[in-house]
Amino acid sequence: MLRELPKAYEPGTIERKWAEYWVKERLFEVPTPANKPEHAFTLLLPPPNVTGNLHMGHMLNHTEMDIIVRWHRMLGEATIWVPGTDHAGIATQMMVERQLAAEKKNRRDMGREAFIERVWQWRELYGGNILEQMKRLGDSVDWSREYFTMDERLSGAVREVFVRLHEEGLIYRGKYIVNWCPGCMTAISDLEVKHEEITAKLYEIRYPVVGSREFVTIATTRPETMLGDVAVAVNAKDERYTHLHGKKLLLPLAPDARTDMNGKQVGREIPIIVDELANPEFGTGAVKVTPAHDPNDFQAGLRNNLPQVNVMDETAKMNSNAGAYAGLDRFAARARVLEDLEKQGFLVSIKDHGMALGKCDRSKDVVEPRLSTQWFVAVNKKVPEAGNVSLSDVAKQAVQGANPAIRFTPENHKTIYLNWMENLYDWCISRQLWWGHRIPAWYCGNEKCVHSRDYPGGEPIVARSAPAKCPDCGSATLEQESDVLDTWFSSALLPFTVWGWPSKDERTQKELAYFYPTSLLITGQDILFFWVARMIMMGSWFMRKEPWSGALPIGRGSTNDPPILAPGAKRPLQMAVPFREVYIHALVRDAERQKMSKTKGNVLDPIEVIEKYGTDATRFTLAAMASPGTDIAFNEARTEGYRAFANKIWNAARFVLMNVDRAREAGWWSQEEWLRVGDSTKTTLEDRWILSRWWRVVGELNSALSEYRFHEAAQVIYDFFWKDFCDWYIELIKPRLNSENVAAQKLALFTVMGVLEGSLRLLHPIMPFITEEIFEAVYDGKPPKKSIALVEFPKSDEKQLDPEAEREMALLQELIVAVRNIRAELKVEPKQSLPIKLYSANGARSSIERNRVMLEKLANVSEVSFTPQSLSNEPGSRTTAQFEVAVIYERKVDVGAERERLQKELGKMEAELAGKEKQLANQAFIGKAPADVVEGMRKRAAELEVLIHKSRQALKELQ
Ligand SMILES: [Zn+2]
Ligand SMILES: [Zn+2]
Repeated sequence: MLRELPKAYEPGTIERKWAEYWVKERLFEVPTPANKPEHAFTLLLPPPNVTGNLHMGHMLNHTEMDIIVRWHRMLGEATIWVPGTDHAGIATQMMVERQLAAEKKNRRDMGREAFIERVWQWRELYGGNILEQMKRLGDSVDWSREYFTMDERLSGAVREVFVRLHEEGLIYRGKYIVNWCPGCMTAISDLEVKHEEITAKLYEIRYPVVGSREFVTIATTRPETMLGDVAVAVNAKDERYTHLHGKKLLLPLAPDARTDMNGKQVGREIPIIVDELANPEFGTGAVKVTPAHDPNDFQAGLRNNLPQVNVMDETAKMNSNAGAYAGLDRFAARARVLEDLEKQGFLVSIKDHGMALGKCDRSKDVVEPRLSTQWFVAVNKKVPEAGNVSLSDVAKQAVQGANPAIRFTPENHKTIYLNWMENLYDWCISRQLWWGHRIPAWYCGNEKCVHSRDYPGGEPIVARSAPAKCPDCGSATLEQESDVLDTWFSSALLPFTVWGWPSKDERTQKELAYFYPTSLLITGQDILFFWVARMIMMGSWFMRKEPWSGALPIGRGSTNDPPILAPGAKRPLQMAVPFREVYIHALVRDAERQKMSKTKGNVLDPIEVIEKYGTDATRFTLAAMASPGTDIAFNEARTEGYRAFANKIWNAARFVLMNVDRAREAGWWSQEEWLRVGDSTKTTLEDRWILSRWWRVVGELNSALSEYRFHEAAQVIYDFFWKDFCDWYIELIKPRLNSENVAAQKLALFTVMGVLEGSLRLLHPIMPFITEEIFEAVYDGKPPKKSIALVEFPKSDEKQLDPEAEREMALLQELIVAVRNIRAELKVEPKQSLPIKLYSANGARSSIERNRVMLEKLANVSEVSFTPQSLSNEPGSRTTAQFEVAVIYERKVDVGAERERLQKELGKMEAELAGKEKQLANQAFIGKAPADVVEGMRKRAAELEVLIHKSRQALKELQ
């Protein structure tokens, strides 16, 4: 007895077993090769947050990556998929802070060191859940290379990059308006701000002109920020205000003295300035200028050399510059300010005002533009030593030209990317968090030293490791910068740091030579700017300059790479970029095409779907729906369908293996012989046809996968296996399998085994588990490799196609289907065989005659006769380009019985129609029922009317 496949396909058991086996056997680990592999394929997993859990978007992303990775591995390339997790600064810190809050503790009381200790403990306990989930998906990653972005090795690389960029003058510290989240108490990037369309209030407030009875009216949605006003701007062309140029206004409600960011005192009298900030067409044409609380005002302040008065602290409470309002939360302050303005007669009007309110994507707090000191990467600064180009220049070059270093699929993302690069501002990389890579900069404790925090225009000491004393004054009192780096700063480096950069050891040198650039990045559009763009900037910048002193050739040898470079050569841009291709996948939406969101309650948990239908069916669903550039409306009904497909595969395999068992019992089974089934054995039409079809599918699959057309790959293999292999081929060989002729049996069984085995290879990248299980059974528990994942994926071979067999088979299939349809129309008993008449004007006759048995078996034909004249006038005949066919059938109708049947049918339909009409007349029902349900009912009612009419006709004819 062969290793038997259980009767029922149970994905749960199979999948758990193989997932464990793959990890335990370390099947996907690739140690550093001694020599350059002929072909290498490398891919970096977009590192999920260590706090994360698998969602449907990941599931799609991972499915696509695993399909591509398994395919390349089976093509015989040195394939490495590097997994890891991201420390996720804000998310992780918030998670632990929430835990602390539940224990009535907070991080400030704990202190920085103890807090970070606590985060590491948290990670030990809860982090990495997503890695376990990845194993369930079957992700064939190299676990020996797993990293965590806060690992000491990767942290060292982060410091190295920071110091080098600082040395090149590309990192600086500056005052800047940032998006400040008072909840997270840190600066957040533009990308982390989500805008909500709301109807806000626009308040008009008048400021008295000093020494006059006049007023100037300004408008604002945030009246509390007026306490930070330092000027009012009017436009040079606006004649309404010409007479006020150079005059001053008295700022209502403000204290007599406010302190600006540089320690200067600012009074309540503020100048009227002429600046382009004011638009004569908009509002009153006069605008308040609050440089510390608005990005445009900040720029205007710089242009006009205005002081910067900050009126809030980091929690968005008003500070002492707000005078009487100090200590109030910004929204409480707003209410009080309005009340007082009203009382004192300064409030002119309140209007509704539509605006986009910026909120923190994580904590949902309203973002406050706030002036603070931050660290920046100067992305547009040209560096003479680097060939007078900037980071953004290099990042643009990487995707430009006829043969770009990086290719995007779908291609439109290249334009989106370039647009963003064109309008790039300096990148604010500091975050006021504790969890993350602490900025390697130290302030000197000596107040008079240039490296002191307070020294005007002074700079901290930037170093790879903590300096023992100040290089300038020798003071040993040094304090490290408290800010950490933006999480995306470290993840931008991963494509080169995962291989060991900046180490000079042999292993790193080899891996960078053989495996960098990575071949492909598969990711979602949501992180195109956050991550993809930054990886391109950093990778291209650093690897382009990486001196190449090793004795190793560079290059991966894939078809679209430049020729392999000699030792000592400098990396051209194609070899410096972090990846050669980027595939941007779509969003997974719910079945109604709605975005999945917690508030809508339509979030699907992929683990639940997997538990219901199995991982293979879930993977197949996502692949089948993943056409490039189109969002996926995930519908469980589809997964149910692919679960049925898995069942079909299972049952087909069981059928074949049962026949192997029979052959073994009969004593003629030979494992070696079926493996060698070759051209010489392809004698019957169906064998020639199925093998040709299989080779055609090989070509189509390889081409679909090479262009990330996952939906086509899935469709092609689905159609082949279900229709060609199961519905036709297996049916066609049954007579031979059941015959007494051992030679015929052998040929059929060996061929069907060969095609089954080959199809498992083709299915494997999409459905790894079921194919592994059946593959093992096919080889009686002794497969040629430790896993089907390690055997060869067939390469396209035109020579194997047999167009003649495909043409002939297509003709027969068409004929069989035509006869089946005629029989169905005539309502012939399934068991009754009938003779057919055929007319064929061309060469179809000989094919049909040769394959009469096929026709008899699959179309239940008892006899075939050819007629010399056309059958197209015969009732119920079918006409095609190649033949005309009619079924010879004298229907003996029992009029009484037929009348009875028709009456019964008619009665049923009339009752159904009455029911439908009643519901459709019910307004309450129509109002509540979904539109598609109502639409469906209307259609059915119309259909019933037609059918009823036909039945009545037929009844009349029977009289
Ligand atoms: Zn926040
Ligand atoms: Zn010093």
